[in-house]
Amino acid sequence: MKALVLDAQWDPRPDYAVSEWEKQTGKAITGSSVWRHPKLQVQTVPDPKPGPDDVLLKIKACGVCGSDIHFYEHDKDDYILYPGLTKFPTTTGHEFSGEVVEVGANVRDLKVGDMVTAEEMIWCGYCTPCRNGYPNHCVNLEEIGFTIPGAFAEYLAIGAKYCWKLDAIADRYGSVEKAFEAGSVVEPTSVAYNGMFPRAGGFAPGAFVAVFGAGPIGLAAIALARASGAGIVAAFEVSPNRQAIAKTLGADFVYDPRKVSPSQVLMELSKGEGFDFMVEAAGAPNKTIPEMEKAMAINGKIVQIGRAAERVPMYLETLQVRRGQVFGAQGHSGDAVFPSVIRMMASGRLDMTQMITARYDLAKTVDAIAASGERFHGKITVKP
Ligand SMILES: [Zn+2]
Ligand SMILES: [Zn+2]
Repeated sequence: MKALVLDAQWDPRPDYAVSEWEKQTGKAITGSSVWRHPKLQVQTVPDPKPGPDDVLLKIKACGVCGSDIHFYEHDKDDYILYPGLTKFPTTTGHEFSGEVVEVGANVRDLKVGDMVTAEEMIWCGYCTPCRNGYPNHCVNLEEIGFTIPGAFAEYLAIGAKYCWKLDAIADRYGSVEKAFEAGSVVEPTSVAYNGMFPRAGGFAPGAFVAVFGAGPIGLAAIALARASGAGIVAAFEVSPNRQAIAKTLGADFVYDPRKVSPSQVLMELSKGEGFDFMVEAAGAPNKTIPEMEKAMAINGKIVQIGRAAERVPMYLETLQVRRGQVFGAQGHSGDAVFPSVIRMMASGRLDMTQMITARYDLAKTVDAIAASGERFHGKITVKP
């Protein structure tokens, strides 16, 4: 079958201490410190064979993620930019939906013809964090499209326990094609949902919510805030195109953070009371956290979802005086996150297909990633 394969050279930077675990597994914990000279190419690879607990999916849609862009873009020494867990070569792509075309002998809950999306985080279910109910923090984690083959491909074999059915979304749209597109944005939407609700405990209806960054995760946060009864949804985003999508998805106010003082704007919108719930989805906490701090309401919450490998100055006195809380979130598994997002899509309260602004063939996946790198689009989807 055809698949987009990322190959790169294992060449740890001189100042990066490679751990025993990394040597044994061939996985880099900090990809950007290890993988050099990345090459992305659509090529022919062996067809995947599902094991007894797996299903074989015919991939119908797979979104381009910021992390895919960070595999494509590289620094001046030709290292990848993506800082997370990685093992190459592998097929990339992890925001996907597909049709079940084969089921393993032990699979009971899925059958040929089912439409599904799936988690990207292959949590083991056996380690202490998994057994304690924290699959997003599994210590034996494999990640589809990062350490094991992904979905910029015609087929993918995946454990049935990571799959969630899309029938209810198909019923809603009355279109299988639309349901597969919606299915491919369940994963990024779930990342926002996990950060806002299970992790940060959500907000009360009427709360003032600000979202910093309107890439796909921020756009999902905006739509979720709107659907969950926020009193005001304010967004900050530099790209004019993404500003427009933010409005479509439910932001009441959208600003270019380079043209206004975000904290001042939030204090004005709230008549001096501050914002109750603020989402960091820009991955630029050095710029955004100080603004959130200045605009924090009493009992305010900040949730960090964007990734940035940097230290951030924060005046903790603000948290004390304002009774504030800061939450760190990663992942999308557990806590009924995937099924809840699917329910919201099926009910019509959340239409994340509105953020899909371009569609590409599998053969043109490298072009799709390059176009995403311009950070103009909402979400680009590859349809094998
Ligand atoms: Zn992603
Ligand atoms: Zn585990």
